[in-house]
Amino acid sequence: MSRKFDVIVIGAGPAGYVAAIRATQHGLETACIDSWKNLDGSTAFGGTCLNAGCIPSKALLESSELYHRAAIEFSNHGIGVGELSLDLHQMQLRKAKIVGQLSSGIEALFQANKVTGLFGRGRLLPDNKVEYTPHEGEPELMEAGHVILATGSVPVELSAAPFDGEHIVDSWGALEFDAVPKRLGVIGGGVIGLELGSVWRRLGAEVTILEAMDRFLSVADAQIAKEAQRQFKKQGLDIRLGAMVREAEYSDAGVILKYDDEQGGHEVTVDRVVVAVGRRPQTDNCMDPLAGVDIDERGFIRVDDECRTTASNVWAVGDVVRGPMLAHKGSEEGLMVADLIAGEVAEVNYPVIPCVIYTAPEIAWVGRNEEELKAAGVNYKVGTFNFAASGRAKAMDQDAGMVKFLADKDTDRILGVHIVGPLAGELIGEAVLAMEFQASTEDFQRTIHGHPTLTEAVHEAALSVDRRAIHAINR
Ligand SMILES: Cc1cc2nc3c(=O)[nH]c(=O)nc-3n(C[C@H](O)[C@H](O)[C@H](O)COP(=O)(O)OP(=O)(O)OC[C@H]3O[C@@H](n4cnc5c(N)ncnc54)[C@H](O)[C@@H]3O)c2cc1C
Repeated sequence: MSRKFDVIVIGAGPAGYVAAIRATQHGLETACIDSWKNLDGSTAFGGTCLNAGCIPSKALLESSELYHRAAIEFSNHGIGVGELSLDLHQMQLRKAKIVGQLSSGIEALFQANKVTGLFGRGRLLPDNKVEYTPHEGEPELMEAGHVILATGSVPVELSAAPFDGEHIVDSWGALEFDAVPKRLGVIGGGVIGLELGSVWRRLGAEVTILEAMDRFLSVADAQIAKEAQRQFKKQGLDIRLGAMVREAEYSDAGVILKYDDEQGGHEVTVDRVVVAVGRRPQTDNCMDPLAGVDIDERGFIRVDDECRTTASNVWAVGDVVRGPMLAHKGSEEGLMVADLIAGEVAEVNYPVIPCVIYTAPEIAWVGRNEEELKAAGVNYKVGTFNFAASGRAKAMDQDAGMVKFLADKDTDRILGVHIVGPLAGELIGEAVLAMEFQASTEDFQRTIHGHPTLTEAVHEAALSVDRRAIHAINR
């Protein structure tokens, strides 16, 4: 007899495991199947985010930032550290320990919440049946009232520079280097390319980023992106825009990346290459074509606003469906779907999803940017405030960057907040909450902020919308 569950989740990344936990909180009997294998062959829950994405990259960003600060900034504080040394092996061990702790934390959460966690492959069959194939063992047929597909995404490979796992690697490979490359090429100047480029730059690599788009960080507000580009340039990141990589050639001197821009053909020789040109939804071999789940023209599982697929009682969440490929977006979808299955009212507020880039300075935003408002013909007003005038940022010796507030000129409602500067990823939380509550700029202006904190810069930017900033000249 086949095992029966109320809910089977396929994929235990931040979308899937969160959905599974919430489903059991509703009293639904739930299984969560995950096929992840680490490089050493061990199994782990947590998906890309925990094992090869968000968490290991942030661990290395933190370590490399400390190293960089010790090398460059400590002397400003009057702190001498003698001759600085780098133990990359220890840095990698620390990263692995954090990943291991968090991954076993999910197993503990599964146990505490009575989620049946299973390692192996899940495959959706017609009529809400699931074939579960353990890593070692025979396939087993299971049945579920509802199935949630949360199979995530995988890196896009470039035919001009195919992965070889050694010299040309994906983002996971770039988190596992056992030596700092002397010259590192990064193809793709998006979020992942910038974060990984920053890690290795701070540890001493000469980093060249080749970005096909003409505009730097085109997903961000142009003013914020320009400021970030200025800071990265100062840090020695060589960012080449409009650069379309044509070929990667192996030579004794290294990998020669040949690319074209509007001036013609160029090449740059590097020791290692990270290809970070995006990710594609992972739908290979996770469902029978007769299961009735439609895939759209870009390869994503087609879903409605509530993450229902075209098959009855089959849902899909996270990177495998439309929307930004962000862990917290997937988690929110997982929560929503579990709540809907339990008969509750739930929704995801898609326009209010924060985006964070963990470079130094960090970049973060929520809502619409100035270019989007212009294009939509919205009557808006702008306020900005530079961290250079923030006492706390000065004390931290991290006063580069700014906060930008955008609000509706007629209703005063906050439309977007954009930050490049220290701890921008933490600061944006307040703006997300304000927008979730549909706050006006005046609400923000009249909210008391602690002194001296970085949040005062966000407050001042809100004041500046109406030319009421106190610690800046209002123009
Ligand atoms: C280097 C890097 C840094 C990142 N940093 C951030 C960040 O700072 N913040 C952020 O929000 N996002 C970040 N992301 C993106 C984030 O990792 C993804 O948005 C997130 O992991 C998506 O979650 P998910 O649950 O949809 O998919 P995943 O995390 O990819 O999990 C899917 C899981 O499903 C499993 N699976 C697939 N097929 C099957 C099957 N048939 N049967 C069983 N299991 C299956 C996979 O093995 C995997 O474990 C980063 C990504 C990378 C690569």
